[in-house]
Parts: sequence; C-alpha cells; structure tokens
Amino acid sequence: MNNEEVIEILIKCGVLMEGHFILTSGKHSDKYVQCAKLFQNPMYSEIISSILAEKLKKYDADLVIAPAVGGIILSYEIAKQLNVKSLFAERENQMMTLRRGFEIAKGAKVIVVEDVVTTGGSVNEVVDLVNSLGGVITAIGSIVNRSKNNSVFPYPYEYVVQIDMESYDKEECPLCLKGSIPYKPGSRK
Ligand SMILES: [Zn+2]
Repeated sequence: MNNEEVIEILIKCGVLMEGHFILTSGKHSDKYVQCAKLFQNPMYSEIISSILAEKLKKYDADLVIAPAVGGIILSYEIAKQLNVKSLFAERENQMMTLRRGFEIAKGAKVIVVEDVVTTGGSVNEVVDLVNSLGGVITAIGSIVNRSKNNSVFPYPYEYVVQIDMESYDKEECPLCLKGSIPYKPGSRK
C-alpha cells in the first residue's frame, strides 16, 4: 500500500481532517488529526497497523507497550501481529507507571508505540519507565508522525505516515484573517 492509499484511508476514517480547527494547544490549523477514529473501524485499523507491524518485525521484541489511552488499541494490534504480549502504561499521580499486574522482565526487548507522535512526550515517559525496570527498548513506532523530523527519539523510529501540520496563533491565523470561523473538533457544538 502506498502513501496516497494510506492517506485516503485516514481521510475516509476521519483521522485526517482538513478545514479550520482550534487545536488542543489553542493554536489554529488547517488540518486536524484524530487517530482514535481509525480504531473505530477494526478492519482499517488492522490494515494500517499491519504496515507498522511489518516495519517493526525486524526489531525482534518480546513485548509492545503504549501510553494509555491513545496507544492501547495500537499496542494490542501490533502485539497481535508480532505474536508477542501487549501492555499499556498509565499515569498514577502524574507518573507513568505499570498497573494491573503488568510486568516487564529485566532484559526484555520492548517496542513502544503511540498513535500520534508530536513532541514524543508521553512516549518518552514510557521509555523512561521501561528503562527503569531494566527493559531494553529496541524501537519506537507510531501510525502518524507529526514531529517534522525522524529523530525525536534516541532509538530507531518507524511510522506509517508523516503529516506536516502548520499551526498559527489565532491573531496570525491566515484562515481567521480571511474571515473563516474555526471549529474545535471533539467539542459538542
Ligand atoms: Zn484561525
């Protein structure tokens, strides 16, 4: 499957939207990414995840882990396709931690996945957690790379698509200047 076919699926699922949006940061953009929409549709989610699983196969992991909530289904899907365990990390008193009896053995080879990587913040918290438990990170994976570079992590990083998103302060938003009204996805109005 080529990049255009992937983008076509992401648009069809509502993952990638074009228009005039208010981002979580408060900035405005002409694009919006909502990866949860992919996982609404198990068939497309399996197809897109298989592209990532194929790229991650060579890293020979014992388990896959993701930060909750965004990465949970992706971790499960990748682990299923690599035939290894799937875990997720979640915050407890702001600290990324393993709960629910999840364990990472010392020396276990670990792939960390996340649906969308922007700054790599929550992935890096999971990386620190895995390292603190003695796990060995072999790679990072995501469906969407929004980071504008491929070296946000000091580990091999594989992703399905890179999406460049410009964002603007609302005073300088070219769409607002043209008189367009921005929309905040996920809000009720
Ligand atoms: Zn605007």
